[in-house]
Amino acid sequence: MGWKLEYDGKKYKNVVEMGKNIPLLTSVLVQWTDDADWIAANAAANCYDTNITYGGKLAEKIVLHCVESGHNTVYEHNLFTFFKKVPIFVARQDLRARHASFDERSLRYCRADNESLTYYLPDYLSETVIERTDDKKKQQFLKDMREEWIELHERTIRFYSKYTDEELNEIWNEFDLNGERVRETVRATLPLGINTMYMDSRNAASWIHHSAKRLCLRAQKEIRLIAYQQIKQLKEVAPIIFGGVNRPCMMSKGCTEARKCGVTSLEETGRWEVKFYEKIMKPKLYDKK
Ligand SMILES: Cc1cc2nc3c(=O)[nH]c(=O)nc-3n(C[C@H](O)[C@H](O)[C@H](O)COP(=O)(O)OP(=O)(O)OC[C@H]3O[C@@H](n4cnc5c(N)ncnc54)[C@H](O)[C@@H]3O)c2cc1C
Repeated sequence: MGWKLEYDGKKYKNVVEMGKNIPLLTSVLVQWTDDADWIAANAAANCYDTNITYGGKLAEKIVLHCVESGHNTVYEHNLFTFFKKVPIFVARQDLRARHASFDERSLRYCRADNESLTYYLPDYLSETVIERTDDKKKQQFLKDMREEWIELHERTIRFYSKYTDEELNEIWNEFDLNGERVRETVRATLPLGINTMYMDSRNAASWIHHSAKRLCLRAQKEIRLIAYQQIKQLKEVAPIIFGGVNRPCMMSKGCTEARKCGVTSLEETGRWEVKFYEKIMKPKLYDKK
């Protein structure tokens, strides 16, 4: 197995240190099966006594064949682990894909008064986006919303930090209340936009399924950004297994969702998006003739 506790060129001693320093809405590949493509090729080769060689074309071909045909077991013999720092509403969506092992930071045992509790602010409430708006009425509305958003989150974090402070342990004892019981309940006041951190391990088949679902344009933008980050890193360590992972419409040559995204559609071969095809591919094909 390979492993690395590194983000943006900076190495970390452990995930606790890493979690404090990486930005919210980040997923970092921290462990992976080395040569997962080769292991998958061997799993397939064993079935038919295929004589493959490391790095050879035949090895690549049989893995591609298995991925395209959905012969999952061949690429289930490997493991990829991400360490994530995301808002709770993103984690809730992420944890829905069930073939995984998770371990999440506990707000029952971990302290929040050391600035470890950060919260999410959507892109349309960033100062840069608001300042760029020409419409004065819209600008003021978004400014007010931003202010309320920040105030709301900071107030709940202050409330949580105040009542989970270890210095209160004596008071809880005096009142015949259990400090741990108070801490585990006070976290109920925190909004869904605060961060959570967890390790998420899956085999390649599970990552392919989960990634395709969340790369779909019908998925919420924030979980889609996480899926993009993950698949990019997975393609680096296992380019053959993950090379073809894309939005589900691109992978199955057409949208399978009952409610379409309305943002994109594929031309009739199912290989290209209409806009891309009309602008880039069709003129090129035409030139050739
Ligand atoms: C765009 C989008 C919108 C969504 N909106 C909502 C929503 O509004 N509300 C909501 O609740 N969820 C929503 N979800 C979550 C969605 O319903 C699934 O729960 C989630 O995507 C996990 O899919 P899955 O079960 O295929 O994946 P996994 O849990 O990873 O399972 C993979 C596959 O394993 C098999 N499998 C797993 N467990 C079982 C089992 N118990 N029995 C039989 N087969 C099993 C199935 O074939 C499954 O497809 C949304 C997902 C997306 C991508």
